[in-house]
This record gives sequence, C-alpha cells and structure tokens, in this order.
Amino acid sequence: MELRMERMTSPEIADALAAGFTTVVVAAGAVEQHGAHLPLFMDAEHGDRLGPEIAARLDKALVAPTIRVGCSAHHMSFAGTVSLERETFLAVCHDYCASLAAHGFRRICFVPTHGGNFEPLKTGLPGLNEAAGAMCSVEAYTDLMEVIDVWREVAETEAELGERVGGHADIAETSVMMALHPELVREDLAEVGHLAKPEDRAALVDRMIREGFAAVTPNGILGDARGGTPEMGEKMIAALADAMVAALQDEGRAEPATGDAV
Ligand SMILES: [Zn+2]
Repeated sequence: MELRMERMTSPEIADALAAGFTTVVVAAGAVEQHGAHLPLFMDAEHGDRLGPEIAARLDKALVAPTIRVGCSAHHMSFAGTVSLERETFLAVCHDYCASLAAHGFRRICFVPTHGGNFEPLKTGLPGLNEAAGAMCSVEAYTDLMEVIDVWREVAETEAELGERVGGHADIAETSVMMALHPELVREDLAEVGHLAKPEDRAALVDRMIREGFAAVTPNGILGDARGGTPEMGEKMIAALADAMVAALQDEGRAEPATGDAV
C-alpha cells in the first residue's frame, strides 16, 4: 500500500484516515554540502526513503512530504548549502502540525535525517504540540548519538569499518547514497575527513554548531568516506528505521497521547 501522502489522492487519504491511519511520519532533512563526493540532497533523499520505512513499521501510519531544507548554518561556508534559520524551520514544522492535525491525524512523528535539525525539534517540541492542538500528540526522534552508533555497528558487522563512521559524508552516508542514487556518488573523490574518538563525539558536535563545520573538517567530511557499498547502505537504512521506531514507541508509552482526554 502507498503510504506517501504526496503520491495519494485526497479521497484516498480521507479513506485511510477513516480506516485508522491517524499516525503520520515527517522526515526533516537538509540540502547542504556533503564533501566532494556526495550531492547536496543527501539528507533530504535519506528522509524520503526513511519516512516510508518508519511508517511501515509503525501501526497504521502515513508519510507527510519530507521537509527537505533544514538548519545548516554550520555548513554555510561550503558553496551551495541552503539553510533555514531555526525559527523558520520550527515555523514550517509548526504549520505541518497544524495542517496534519486539522485533517484528523492524532500522532505526528518527526524524524530528523540531518544533525542540525535535532536540537530545534527537541527544544521546539512543546510549541509543536501546542500547534497540533489537544486532539493530536507530536513526538520527535532526537538521539543523534544513537544514529552514529547504529551506523557504526552496521559498518563494523558488515566490513569491520566501524571506525570510519563519523556522522557526516562518511562511509555511512556514502553507503546510503550508493543505495539511493549510485549514479550520483563520485566514488573517486571519497576520502578521509576528520576522525574523532567516540568519547569526543558529543563535544565535537557542540564545537561544529558553534564554530562551523569547516573549522573542524576542511573537506566537509566527518569520518572516512571510503569503503562504502550499496548493500551496507540498505542495512543502515533498515537498522536506523528500526532504532527510530523503537525510540518513538518508547516515547509513546511514556507519554500517552493527550488526544484521548477530550
Ligand atoms: Zn548528511
């Protein structure tokens, strides 16, 4: 069954809602530099693929249009990056919530596929819940470090290359793009970038957000881009969808939807 709202007709969506498809997944990506070897739409396309994977794993869920451009201020010193201000990004999320809730969705799940969108979604969640109203609950996956752990485990299991996962334009994102659009990966330009020890990763993310990406990695890569395969990319997509769904379901249990109260 088609779960992507953009590909459905309005009557089909009305029928799905009536049949209980009242959960909706919203992926939030980015259009920004990903080294010399990956196209700008890496995170947007990753969101387009992860959205349906997650919806299929949730009970009766559809997929809203991916928010393709995100908070990429820290990548602006690299040509081509398009970035939304935090307030603009949250305003878009706010309007998604209001629209989706108006049609009868009861649960909205944001899944960021770009690091810069995690913090705004985490701190902006109360406002998004307000925008959705009393009949609809809004959740967001916000564990950026878990994403890196998931990728690292797949790269280690598949090729003993877990240490090449750094979180940006690395072996993981290169593998995912090889699975999505192999013709767009410039494999001969895949190279090593900044390599951080696992224990330094959280501090590194902070520094990049504050000082910009180029201060940490002149070639725009965190980790090592070499050694990826499309097969590994498919496994990373599936593993990340599993982890995100597990986290969303935990959150759903911890905080019951307010919608049933009215
Ligand atoms: Zn990315």
